[in-house]
Amino acid sequence: MSRVIGIDLGTTNSCVSVIENGQPTVIPNAGGYRTTPSMFAISPDGKRLVGHLAKRQAVTNSRNTVHASKRLIGRRFDAPEVQKAIDLCPYEILRGANDDPRIKIAGKTFTCPEIAGIVLREMKRVAEEYVGEPVSEAVITVPAYFNDAQRQCTKDAGKIAGLEVLRIVNEPTAAAMSYGAGHRGEEKVAIYDLGGGTFDISILDMSDGVIEVLATAGNTFLGGEDFDRMIVAHLLERFHENEGIDLRNDPMALQRLKDAAEKAKCDLSERERTEISLPFIASDDSGPRHLQLEMDRAALEALVHGLVNQTIKTAEACVTDAGLQPGDVERVILVGGQTRMPLIQKAVGQFFGKAPHKGVNPDEVVAVGAALQGEALVSDDKNLLLLDVTPLSLGIATVGGHFAKLIERNTTVPVRKTHTFTTTRDDQTAVKIRVLQGESEAAAENDLLGEFVLSGIRKAAQGEPEVEVCFDIDANGIVSVSATDLATGKEQSITVNATGTLSQDEIERIIEDHELYEIQIKD
Ligand code: AMP
Repeated sequence: MSRVIGIDLGTTNSCVSVIENGQPTVIPNAGGYRTTPSMFAISPDGKRLVGHLAKRQAVTNSRNTVHASKRLIGRRFDAPEVQKAIDLCPYEILRGANDDPRIKIAGKTFTCPEIAGIVLREMKRVAEEYVGEPVSEAVITVPAYFNDAQRQCTKDAGKIAGLEVLRIVNEPTAAAMSYGAGHRGEEKVAIYDLGGGTFDISILDMSDGVIEVLATAGNTFLGGEDFDRMIVAHLLERFHENEGIDLRNDPMALQRLKDAAEKAKCDLSERERTEISLPFIASDDSGPRHLQLEMDRAALEALVHGLVNQTIKTAEACVTDAGLQPGDVERVILVGGQTRMPLIQKAVGQFFGKAPHKGVNPDEVVAVGAALQGEALVSDDKNLLLLDVTPLSLGIATVGGHFAKLIERNTTVPVRKTHTFTTTRDDQTAVKIRVLQGESEAAAENDLLGEFVLSGIRKAAQGEPEVEVCFDIDANGIVSVSATDLATGKEQSITVNATGTLSQDEIERIIEDHELYEIQIKD
């Protein structure tokens, strides 16, 4: 039987795990690292580079190196998050045929699922080298707060990588699985997950093998990258003040600043002060200029405390949604590399009134949970029950631009709700249904998952025909819709095509294209 792998597809880094002799094992890559940068590049001589190879050349080839593309996946090109990324990223982001953002490097354009697929393919390869056989099945994690389009695109990425995606699992739920393996008794647990690009908080009830998510909340555009950005802005300002040179339009300098900012941030998790030294960062008529300054922990904390406060506000809303008080949560688990920052540990500890649990590795716990979930799925383990929720309300747009919620956020999935629709005019034979996900009362402020026209309704007086529309959210959090004309019993098949998802033909074309570039080590 082929092995199921668990992949944490992170904004910054990805991690893969497999169950070996009943124990989850994190698989190191060829360089011995237990996580792999989620980066892809095309080198000046046309080579496709993934992971550490891509990261190592990012400074000299920043325009052709893709990082943090998870922030774009499943979004519309016009979304504010994409527009923000266009300002921040050294690589080119273009409008795609489906109004999705596409990434252009070295003259070639890629869809976001394609880039994620390249990273997943690398993780698959790392796993195959380790287990010594082909791997075809995987559980892949996503931020709990990902909407339908982001989930569908992640599934497409799995297909592009040649993987059958057995389940899309929410990152905090995977972390809880890993923490809860072998755990007995009942406990209310909060998982605070701050990674490179996203923030999630989930409140769970764990009791004897049943993991029930009570509520989840988050922000898919808030993570360690934003902390780095604050530091870069500070360094740019200081350099401008001291040297009178503006580095904002120098991609190579910006990439060096970004790397130095991240390093300083990580250093300041361990010590009180650090040195930032970037020799030859610029030059002018008077010769080369160097950036050299000291930063202490208090200065870093002053720069980022607004971001930390935002996460605590979201945590507060999530605890309320779970029907609890912060003090009711018995254990707080930190996930994601950014939670190594002492200010975050302090803020989270203060909010919940208890010190966070230190027993899990924040970089690996999600991949381990995904592998455990994969094993439970293939072995049909009845002792483990995972009850997850949908993070966002699902509904339709109604007359006057309102949003009618049919499935409320934090409803346990899988879930199915039916609703009967009718016509507003005599002899009307078709109705248009716009499926939305989000929390705003105004339809236009929510994510449009898709729209479809129900046709073939028999002619009748206004309000007479009955069309039953069924909204389904499966265990992966993916939405599907079906409709039945109750008079005839005729079912209409409807597909909700999320932004940026690919057709089977497109996926096959991409797979063929990538096969052209595959290499292996010669015996
Ligand atoms: P993840 O997506 O979980 O791999 O988290 C990656 C993020 O964690 C990046 O923004 C890193 O800069 C950040 N990170 C990793 N180690 C540390 C550390 N020691 N202190 C602060 N942030 C860190």
